[in-house]
Amino acid sequence: MKITNIEAIPFAIPYRKPLAFASGQIAEAAHVLVRVHTDDGLVGTAEAPPRPFTYGETQASIISVIETIFAPQIIGASPVERESIHARLNRTVANPAAKSAIDMALWDLIGQSVGLPVTDLLGGHGDQMRVSHMVGFAEPSEMVAEAGRVRDRYGITTFKVKVGRRPIDMDVAACRALREALGDGVELYIDGNRGWTAPDSARALRKMADLDLLFAEELCPADDVLGRRWLVNQSTIPMFADESATRPGEVTRELLDGAATGVSIKTARTGFTYSQRVLFQCEGLGADVVMGNQIDSQIGSLCSLAFGAAFELTSRRAGELSNFLDMTDDLLAEPLQIRNGVLRVREAPGLGIEIDEDKLTHYRQDN
Ligand SMILES: [Mg+2]
Repeated sequence: MKITNIEAIPFAIPYRKPLAFASGQIAEAAHVLVRVHTDDGLVGTAEAPPRPFTYGETQASIISVIETIFAPQIIGASPVERESIHARLNRTVANPAAKSAIDMALWDLIGQSVGLPVTDLLGGHGDQMRVSHMVGFAEPSEMVAEAGRVRDRYGITTFKVKVGRRPIDMDVAACRALREALGDGVELYIDGNRGWTAPDSARALRKMADLDLLFAEELCPADDVLGRRWLVNQSTIPMFADESATRPGEVTRELLDGAATGVSIKTARTGFTYSQRVLFQCEGLGADVVMGNQIDSQIGSLCSLAFGAAFELTSRRAGELSNFLDMTDDLLAEPLQIRNGVLRVREAPGLGIEIDEDKLTHYRQDN
């Protein structure tokens, strides 16, 4: 099996409402569908979500780097030659979402060619994950209403609350309102997207000490090296690195610097190959992990799920797999269904991504 062509197709699907957080705002899912074609007719599929405010990639840059640099480097290779393919891709720095979509499409191909789900190839731990839902910036009462709706409709009982607004009061009030409204039966954790300073973060954590938060993610910038270490040293809950630890080397630095005690793994930026390396590194160092969401569509969510369900360590916490609920539509022929707060892995070979071609025709932006 040889790679014959790589398609990078821009598409855009509107959100029901803009998603707001400390590092940016998104009104539509303007992503890139990546399809890797082979000479035996199999097609591997994944998506690349551009996140310029985190990684510098845009929809146009993802398409350009795939078409002009990556495709010529790997056409003719076999999808199983992952080490050699990554060596070629890594001649170009950065571009994590573009590289990861190619990587996951290759795993999809390998799974299809041997007739096994990617989850089974990766680790085969289980076939499902509990789902965590992200609650973005709004008035506290609106955030409570959204979380309540999601819990009642989908059975989700874990919520990631976006914080990082300054002054800290609105976020502290929102977390308190969520705990009071939803009770002790739900899990809450916070993500600051670097919006606070270390002293802001310490103060906010003190004010929320009675709210039984599971952990806190990326409250202040990683460049505040001593500030982060100071914060981690006094925190009574685990402190997670997300956008500050996007590659194995950064993960090492964050953990050994004492700047974090856990790491968010996002297949949208480390694919399956590098997500494995990050996971095994965390396991070896005794660090915690959570499956994060790069505001993926159902395609990306299926990829996160395939990885998260494959390992015991990634299955312990609820995975962030529900951002697609905020989209008005999707490209999957068979939509994902969250039931009783759980998403199940597809039993099909590979990733089980079947694209609705009519929807793709409708939402693609290149015709
Ligand atoms: Mg985050």
